[in-house]
Amino acid sequence: MRDVLQESVLVLNTSMIAIDICSARTAILEILRNIAIPIKESEDLVRSEKLTLHVPRIIAQRSYHKIPRYDQKTSKINIIYRDDQTCCYCGVRFPIPELTVDHVIPRSRWKKITGETPPYDFNSWWNLVTACRRCNSVKANRLLQEIGWKLQKKPDKPKNTGLVIARQRAESLGWMEYCRVNVRLVESV
Ligand SMILES: [Zn+2]
Repeated sequence: MRDVLQESVLVLNTSMIAIDICSARTAILEILRNIAIPIKESEDLVRSEKLTLHVPRIIAQRSYHKIPRYDQKTSKINIIYRDDQTCCYCGVRFPIPELTVDHVIPRSRWKKITGETPPYDFNSWWNLVTACRRCNSVKANRLLQEIGWKLQKKPDKPKNTGLVIARQRAESLGWMEYCRVNVRLVESV
């Protein structure tokens, strides 16, 4: 049986801007503590001895007005989202399952190229790019200058993009009307 308390709830600030996602359990506790108010509810009910509540889908904080900064982790999916599912070598956009993440400077060359004090980490935003399978296998362990390739775009840490939410998820949970500001909708994996 699905646990409705584990389902995701979109959290808005006092200006009705999406700022976070929490579990229905947390959302209900915040409503009961008067920290948040429900904005949209699902058909599902949760019952305790004293009360019956609809499971919230969207809540709004009663006094939090800020928009937090989001620091994204360097993960495969976040690299692919940063590069908008586009291979940094051939510039073609692909569905997510057809993409890989490549180290611009390969491990075998890292120390020789970057020296003892590398300007950034091997596994950092600046050495990781989205690559289609074909480009990745053609490039293999070579450096771009050795094969006459150029990066379509210099890799960088993503700007503050707001919440990253899969479009399908936002649609199925009824969040879309609050996904216009501070939300980047992406394809699901
Ligand atoms: Zn490619």
